[in-house]
Amino acid sequence: KKYVYMFQEGNSKMKDLLGGKGANLAEMTRIGLPVPQGFTISTQACNLFYEKGEKLTEEIKEEIYTYLSQLEQETGKTFGSKENPLLVSVRSGAAISMPGMMDTILNLGLNDDTVLALAEKTQNERFAYDSYRRFIQMFSDVVLSIPKYKFDHILERVKEENNFMEDTQLTAEHLKEIVKEYKKIVKSEVRRAFPQEPREQLLMAVEAVFASWNNPRAIAYRRYNEIPHEIGTAVNVQSMVFGNMGNDCGTGVAFTRNPSTGEKKLFGEFLLNAQGEDVVAGIRTPKTISQLQQLMPEVYDQFIKTTEILEKHYRDMQDIEFTIEESKLFILQTRSGKRTAEAAMRVAVELVEEGLISKEEAILRIDAKQLDQLLHPTFEPRALEAAQMLAQGLPASPGAARGKIYFTAEKIIEAANNGEKTILVRQETSPEDIEGMYAAQGILTARGGMTSHAAVVARGMGKCCVAGCETIKVNEQKREFVIEGRVFTEGDFISLDGSTGKVYRGDIATIEPTLSGSFGELMQWADEIRSLLVRTNADTPADARTAVKFGAQGIGLCRTEHMFFDESRILSVRKMIFAKTTEQREKALEELLPVQREDFEGIYEAMGERPVTIRLLDPPLHEFLPHSGKEMQDLANNLEISLEEVKEIAESLKEFNPMLGHRGCRLAITYPEITIMQTKAIIQAAIAVSKKNNITIKPEIMVPLIGTVKELKYLKDVIHETAREIIKEAEVDLDYLVGTMIEVPRATLTADEIAQEADFFSFGTNDLTQMTFGFSRDDAGKFLKEYVEKDILEQDPFQSIDQEGVGKLVEMAVELGRKVKPDLKIGICGEHGGDPESIKFFHKTGLSYVSCSPYRVPIARLSAAQAQI
Ligand code: ADP
Ligand code: MG
Ligand code: MG
Repeated sequence: KKYVYMFQEGNSKMKDLLGGKGANLAEMTRIGLPVPQGFTISTQACNLFYEKGEKLTEEIKEEIYTYLSQLEQETGKTFGSKENPLLVSVRSGAAISMPGMMDTILNLGLNDDTVLALAEKTQNERFAYDSYRRFIQMFSDVVLSIPKYKFDHILERVKEENNFMEDTQLTAEHLKEIVKEYKKIVKSEVRRAFPQEPREQLLMAVEAVFASWNNPRAIAYRRYNEIPHEIGTAVNVQSMVFGNMGNDCGTGVAFTRNPSTGEKKLFGEFLLNAQGEDVVAGIRTPKTISQLQQLMPEVYDQFIKTTEILEKHYRDMQDIEFTIEESKLFILQTRSGKRTAEAAMRVAVELVEEGLISKEEAILRIDAKQLDQLLHPTFEPRALEAAQMLAQGLPASPGAARGKIYFTAEKIIEAANNGEKTILVRQETSPEDIEGMYAAQGILTARGGMTSHAAVVARGMGKCCVAGCETIKVNEQKREFVIEGRVFTEGDFISLDGSTGKVYRGDIATIEPTLSGSFGELMQWADEIRSLLVRTNADTPADARTAVKFGAQGIGLCRTEHMFFDESRILSVRKMIFAKTTEQREKALEELLPVQREDFEGIYEAMGERPVTIRLLDPPLHEFLPHSGKEMQDLANNLEISLEEVKEIAESLKEFNPMLGHRGCRLAITYPEITIMQTKAIIQAAIAVSKKNNITIKPEIMVPLIGTVKELKYLKDVIHETAREIIKEAEVDLDYLVGTMIEVPRATLTADEIAQEADFFSFGTNDLTQMTFGFSRDDAGKFLKEYVEKDILEQDPFQSIDQEGVGKLVEMAVELGRKVKPDLKIGICGEHGGDPESIKFFHKTGLSYVSCSPYRVPIARLSAAQAQI
């Protein structure tokens, strides 16, 4: 079995075996670019290393020596030679790039003898000892676990003693002294001399690099980026080229295009007389790549040509490492460059225009999740760097928000009216906070998960939200919160990053998003390709307009309850709930009818002829109950009953388990008057707007929380009776649909029966997930994180649909429903409608559309196209 490959033996397709770095070094060698020669020890060797208890087998060691001899022959240098010593770098590199996560050692092969040979051969003693001190420090850090700073101290001290600003000012004598001291540190730290035998150095380094696969930062990086732990890293052993031999030498990094804007212009930095990571480490201020043109015009020209070759060859923007040794250019690494969402768009579109990739490839290259970055404000990077982080919660709704903290919706509204920027801080939000949420820049809650009230509503509004930030202790009465003993009170400034969940102290500058031409272009290509339609969840005309601007093809979910919380209406709502007789209830509903009708008119106006699905009242009644004494008294006065009676009724409406209680269609079955009122409003508004704008509106009325077909049948009759009467009276032709949410497991099991009565289905995957797992949406945040960490669940099933369980119910319901009605229109309106992975699943399942919050519409359009390709 073969574990080691010369660079000449590999190519770019062998990433799994050689790692990304190794495969690309091989590929560049293959196409004739100037790459210092070397060999790669494969990821299989890494896996074997772990199998054998973190040891290299004899077999692999032998193979390494064989390849080392070959490398010696090719370079004409010899490991440990006192005339012409071979020096190598030992570099990590996994199949998926993990920049800076693992370790690399340079100048390996140096010892007290070879350093003399190097000095002699290059006639450059300074360079030889500079390389040696770097090697001792890196080797000690990576292999012997001696902290870097112990060495840095010495270097700093020598510089200080001599009043030097830069490392380059150190002379050979200084460096010799430093090397001596470094060796002393090694001896005192690990009680042995610095290893002098190059072959021993090499094996120790290879083992250490394999072991660095499992250092904590690499593990964390993999978890965060969903990279499997089993794939392992490869190790590259490469002959050294030197950027630190003098001022005709240097090292740098460059992107073939600007990684933050995507502009097609070489973007890079380099340092003269420097080695390896000096550029990244910020030891000196680097020069821009254009300065290389003045300093070494020929090398610059060659470099430009090389970057062009690489970009054409890889058909993507490249991130390239290079070193110049005595005016000779070497390429040390190339990979697809990391980039912002904006740059990703622009690069993809321009590569299509340049004929390098197809539209489909361009679409597949965009990470749909990254689009979020484009649609929301972000923090100004420098300001963010300087900021102090206070706490970390869940990244519930992306964007950047800054403002003064307030603890009630009223205060927020008041402050906003005074022109202040505000952040609403709550234990958790409730429907009454809606207006405050609208008025605030951002929302911070101490409790609740990714589908908590705050998270769902904020995403719908496109408002920044950090939820479930457990380390802050909110005291709404005292109007303060405490983080690790530090108290923040009303009016203090904080900033929230809804994309990372981080909470910062103070007021951090933000930048507004700009949608570039490339964005529009790419979205149009996506629309041409996809068959899955994209609707939006919108409750207000403003949200609806935003969604249309982002390309929504209809409304898949208009929640009517949010309209009921409006300050001017809540009293009527409460009157309806507390009514003792049907008459009283009807009277209260009559007050609500005109305002509800206006709501729908506004939404139809915003949507034109695009389909609009309106869901009948869904939440448990208790959410509308009065809380304060004043609210109770108001209600008592209004209904002409005693305060005691109000309290009694309020008490009787309390439920132990409201999410499984009197809500959804169950409410409508007890109080059909509510359904009648809502149907009237829906139909009347449709008639009015159709007439006014001379368009055809076809409302879709949706009944929530159906578990058995009879519930639907009962309510459908009520709806039809009401609607038909109005249509008849108005003497118009108006078509409408009556469909249902599929969100109770029983509904998925009996979808064939339900389909007989339903004009359409819409999966409510939030409730369906809640009820299938038996996880309370509002409480699961507390333990789901652990479920994911302990690998019991791969991910939060409220964020990305559980395809094996909940997904199976969805598939079954689709199959059963379409058996009865082959053309049944089926959509999904849960939070999953905006999640790329879930969207791919829904496409496969054959749904007609997904519906998501306005700001996720572009993500859904792109994901739907990706699913199609
Ligand atoms: P990372 O993955 O952290 O970038 P690398 O393995 O790419 O680590 O190496 C770190 C630095 O050392 C880079 O700047 C690289 O160009 C440089 N380097 C690596 N190998 C050599 C070599 N053989 N000759 C000169 N410089 C090298
Ligand atoms: Mg690198
Ligand atoms: Mg529901």
